[in-house]
Amino acid sequence: MKNYDVVVVGGGPAGLFTAIMCAKKGWRIALLEKNKSCGRKLLMAGAGKCNITQAGEMAHFLTCYGENARFLKQALLSFSNEDLLAFFKKRGLEFVTMENGKVFPKSLKSQDVLQVLLVECERRGVEIYYEHAVDSIVKEEETFVVTTQKERLTSRVVVVATGGLSYPHTGSTGDGFIFAKQFGHKIVPTKPALTPLKIKNYAWADLSGTSFEALSYTLWRQGKKIGTYQGDFLLTHSGVSGPGIINYSRYMQSGDVIKCNFVGADSIEAFRSQLTKTLSEGKKTLVKTIVRDLPLTKRFADKVLELCGISEALKCAELTKATRQKLLTTLTEYEMEVKELGGYHVAMVTTGGVSIKEIKPKTMESKKVPNLYFVGEVLDIDGDTGGYNIQAALSMAYLAAKAIGEQKES
Ligand SMILES: Cc1cc2nc3c(=O)[nH]c(=O)nc-3n(C[C@H](O)[C@H](O)[C@H](O)COP(=O)(O)OP(=O)(O)OC[C@H]3O[C@@H](n4cnc5c(N)ncnc54)[C@H](O)[C@@H]3O)c2cc1C
Repeated sequence: MKNYDVVVVGGGPAGLFTAIMCAKKGWRIALLEKNKSCGRKLLMAGAGKCNITQAGEMAHFLTCYGENARFLKQALLSFSNEDLLAFFKKRGLEFVTMENGKVFPKSLKSQDVLQVLLVECERRGVEIYYEHAVDSIVKEEETFVVTTQKERLTSRVVVVATGGLSYPHTGSTGDGFIFAKQFGHKIVPTKPALTPLKIKNYAWADLSGTSFEALSYTLWRQGKKIGTYQGDFLLTHSGVSGPGIINYSRYMQSGDVIKCNFVGADSIEAFRSQLTKTLSEGKKTLVKTIVRDLPLTKRFADKVLELCGISEALKCAELTKATRQKLLTTLTEYEMEVKELGGYHVAMVTTGGVSIKEIKPKTMESKKVPNLYFVGEVLDIDGDTGGYNIQAALSMAYLAAKAIGEQKES
């Protein structure tokens, strides 16, 4: 049996960074990764370009992790976006910030981010065991025994960084939840997040690819409004997507209804009464002319007319009250029922996981088992799109390593 100071389970960004940060004191650090290579999901991040973090204040970050954001406060303040970029810049990576605040390596290659992490692991003597899927972690008195098919390692500290359940072919198959459960931890039920929605009786398939900037919509469950959201929105061949949908998918479930305000009206009431007036005064004007004058693409406007059963030749004077009503509702509160959320094969992250109530937010250590740490997506933490998840993974890793080794990166 080989003995280490720290054993890290999982070679994604959270695990690699924990290992790097712990290794500075020259301790013996082992990282066990089930795949032939580390960071398979990291390589896919930002469509292979790696949206590593977001520019801006940490106060803004704390609005981007749903209801569990507070847990991350210490981690994000201890290792901010600036700290993250400084770490990589010091190792030769340059960055570019897009107009929307997303930060990418200048090369637009995730591989370059991963390479920095791997080189740093090597430089600091982290022993990486590839193709070593951890089967079990047990604690015998003060020592953990970590077992794979090929090795049994002992250590006084174990860090679980096995990720969530999304994109399971990258290696994240929820193993960390099993380990956590065996140590008596509660697992908050998991669900795909940052995922598109499939819509029941979807009517917009032929407009797939049409996008809306900052579309606002309300979310309803069993007739009760549960939220109002806004963001860029995309019609797909089977439903809806875009940051404005996927960022809030953590709050949604099958059967929910979203009501979309396609015309971007600040006040739906004011828009409806203005359009009603225009249509009433239109007399011989074609309804289609008025609808096409709205801030919509012609294709979209024509689809709205089709869905409302308004013919090319219909004049305003001929518009029935019921059809006018349907038109107003289609434009401002169009209902789409969520058939299902995209599964783990398309969801960028997992919501749910190891309950943060049982983890110390200042150290990432288990409140139940001393010297057992959890970092990254294995925890019940999920961020919006925009670099928030990798930032969270590295900030948590930093905090755990700091607590483990009481050291701070300069
Ligand atoms: C398509 C896609 C695009 C994304 N784009 C972005 C983006 O641009 N910006 C952003 O911030 N976030 C992005 N994310 C999310 C981000 O990649 C994840 O949140 C992040 O990788 C989580 O890091 P992690 O280290 O916690 O887990 P993971 O990256 O999932 O790594 C976990 C590792 O643990 C290993 N492992 C699991 N079980 C075991 C075991 N039993 N034994 C040994 N090893 C094990 C796995 O093989 C894996 O290597 C994206 C996700 C996806 C799927």
